[in-house]
This record gives sequence, structure tokens and C-alpha cells, in this order.
Amino acid sequence: MSAILGIASLLLPALSIQDPKLDYHLELSKAGDKRVSITIETEPLPFPQILVMPRAIPMGYGEQPYDRFVSALYAEDNAGNPVLVSRQEGPRWLISGETKLKRIRYTVDLGRMEREILSAADSSKARGRYLGVLGYSVFAYIDGQEQKDIDLHLRGPGGWQIFSTLSPQVPAPQGSMQAYATDFYALADSQIAMGPMQGGLVLHRVEGRPSLYIALYAEGPVELRSIGRIGRGALDAMCEYFGNRPFGQYSMHMEYLRPLSEEHEYGFSMEHMQSSTYFLRHDQGLTKDAGPDEIRRVEYNFAHHIAHSWIPKRCYGEGYFPFSWEVAPVLDSIWFSEGFAQYAAMDALTRRREGGEALLARMVENRFQSNLDSQPEVFAKMTTVALSRLASTRYSQDFRTGRGIYSRGGMMAAEMDERIRRRTDDEKGLQDALRHLFKWGETKDRAFTLEELPFILEAGCDVDLRSIYDRWMGPQPR
Ligand SMILES: [Zn+2]
Repeated sequence: MSAILGIASLLLPALSIQDPKLDYHLELSKAGDKRVSITIETEPLPFPQILVMPRAIPMGYGEQPYDRFVSALYAEDNAGNPVLVSRQEGPRWLISGETKLKRIRYTVDLGRMEREILSAADSSKARGRYLGVLGYSVFAYIDGQEQKDIDLHLRGPGGWQIFSTLSPQVPAPQGSMQAYATDFYALADSQIAMGPMQGGLVLHRVEGRPSLYIALYAEGPVELRSIGRIGRGALDAMCEYFGNRPFGQYSMHMEYLRPLSEEHEYGFSMEHMQSSTYFLRHDQGLTKDAGPDEIRRVEYNFAHHIAHSWIPKRCYGEGYFPFSWEVAPVLDSIWFSEGFAQYAAMDALTRRREGGEALLARMVENRFQSNLDSQPEVFAKMTTVALSRLASTRYSQDFRTGRGIYSRGGMMAAEMDERIRRRTDDEKGLQDALRHLFKWGETKDRAFTLEELPFILEAGCDVDLRSIYDRWMGPQPR
């Protein structure tokens, strides 16, 4: 499709209503190489231009110095001549020249990234037979061009399969492939995996709607079929819960890795628009001997991160979109994004099961209430907005803030669900309020404010929720 558009715009430049797109190229030149090279090609843009490397991750609630791993930054004008690139403060480079900017090229050292970023969930990986890339860790943007369409061109060593969550395919193309992103957010939020089939990248497609793809690299034992079955169940449960399928396909990108050092942390997962990433230790894989508790734990972890594709990826408070890539945004509604999404996942998984209500109550107690019972006084006496702001930049780095904030939201959700059910004789539940909020978000195409949120939720269930809302927004002394 892009080739046809390209020809059309050459023939009819004056009539073209299609915004010019950007081309991003990512290349791993040979197996075992720990550097990827990135090229950005644009319609000629007037000088000067600023190139920005992300430091903030959507829902990462913290910052990572991705600009530090960029080297050999080179830019050229529309005549193919090199132009001046100078490092600025923050994750920025100033690009200046005489005519117009055409091309930017740089390399990213993934070996160094993995060594220096201690949270495995936030780093890309390069191995002898595998490459796993988080979009925001390697792709920079030209300031002001973030809304443009992007054609992504991927190239890897001969015989390696190439997988992109933007356009997942099994069997995957080998050596090279192309994908499309609607804007920079979609590109940065996507993942890329490469590797040979033998001892490298394992790809699996699980039948159903939406299609589910699993891209997995393991340095320890793991049961792919069980992962696929549990993932399918979790994805179906969340689509049913929210009553819609906002994506045509969904990918789970998983790594089971031998720790790089004692200091490196494994086990955090991350959600994206139509994918989720699970970067675990090599001995944390689901095996054939997994008991029911272990299967439940994995299922809940999947459902939790899949639920985020609705909340807050498509239904969010202020600060989530448009996203500030340069510095982590300060957010007032993490308690909603985390707590309500986690409660939705619990509700979706348990409600239809035998003894589901008791199981749900137990999960609420173990995953929310117990955290509030044991939280330090310094967090307990904060208002929920104040704690949310604090967690905005240190959610997982000081997980006491993360646990504290999602537990408050989770308890609020549980209490609202209980009241709605009681007042409507089980005709309705929080699920109806959330479905209504989701539709509201689709129609308005903007963030909700904290002032309007309780009214929107109430409109979805016809039950007064204000007193619960107000109480949970205040300090929560033990
Ligand atoms: Zn979460």
C-alpha cells in the first residue's frame, strides 16, 4: 500500500492530501552483534531540527536514559551531504545545515543498555541467536513530527525470522519485513523480535478472535502450549468483560533470561496498545509440573496486563495521551489505571467460575487490602492524588509507591462493584460502569478529568458512587 501511495504522491505532489510519512529502518547486521542501526528518512524538512530520544516509557512511571546508548549519530541533507549534529541538554540533538534535512542515522548499543538498565522489563536484548527490541528504547523522533505515519523496515541476519507486534505473522518473514505504524506512539509502543527458529525465537499463533501471537525466547524450560492456552483464556476473558475487541490481533512477547548480574531485576511485565511484554528469569517459566495455583498466578498476570489495553491505553486520565517522551509525566490517576484494571482482570477471571465470588474476595484481600494494612505511614497519610504523583516517577523503582497506589484504586473498585451489585440486585456491576466509561472515552476521544470520572461511572450503572470515591481519594490512615 505504501508503495502505491509513494508513486501517487510523486505524480501529484500538489494534489496530495496524504501527509508525508516517515520511514524508519532498523537493522541487525549479523548474528551476535549487540548493536542495531537505525535510519530515519523524512520528506525534506527545513533546518534546524531537533532529534529526541525517549526517556519516559508509557506506564513505566519512571525514566530510563535511552539517549545514553545512542552513538555515531549522523545526519544528511537532501543532496546527501553530511550536516552538523550537536548534543543538547536532555535527550536531544540539534541538527542544522544549509538546505533541508533528509536522513538521520545512529546506532544503539543494546549490550550496554542491558548491562546498565537493571530492570529487565525496560531494556532491549541482543543474544547470539536472538534480538528483542522495545520500540521506545531504540527509536528517536524528530520533534514535531510525532503524528506522522511511519513505514517500518526491519532487516536481520539471513535465515532469521522477523516478528513485529505491529504486523505479527506466523510463519514469520525471514531476513526482512515491513510494518506500518499510525504515529510515533504506535512505533515506540511496539516490539520487535528476531532469531533463527532453532534455539532462538519461538513463534506461535493461537487460534481465535482476536488472533493471539506469542513470541518467546527462553534460556530455561517453559511450556509454550500451556502459555498459549492460558494467554488465549485471559485475552478472551478481557474481551468479554469489556464487551469489545479494540484490536484485530494481540501479541505476547516473552523472555526467560539468565540474570546478567545479582543486581538485575526480572519479573516486571509491561502493557502496550496491542501487546504485552513478560521479561522473567530463566527459572520462572511455566513447566509441565505447574500446579493450579501457579497456573492461576500466570493467568492473572496475563489478564492484568491485557486489561491495560483498555485501561488506560484506550480509556485514561490526564497525562497518558499525548505522552511526554522526554520526561515522565506527573499523573493524578494511576490509582485508576492500575487499580481498576487489576480489579477488572480479577473480576473477569473469577466471576464465572465455581466459587468465583469467594475467590474474588480472597484476591482483593491478598492483592489490595493487605498492602494497605502494611504500608508505611508516610504513604498512608497522603491523599490519593499526592501518592499518584509520587508514584509517577518511581512506581517500580520504589515499589512501595506502586503497591500503595494500585491497592487504593483496587479497593475503591471492589467497593463500588459491591455497592452496584447490592443496589441493583446483581443486575449490574462495576463492569457496566467501566463499559460505559470506555464508550465515553471513544466518543469524546480525550482524557477524563478526576472531577467528571465519578459522574461518568455513575451514568453507567445508575448507582450513587460519590461517597466511595471521595473517601478513597483522601488519606488512608492505617
Ligand atoms: Zn498494571
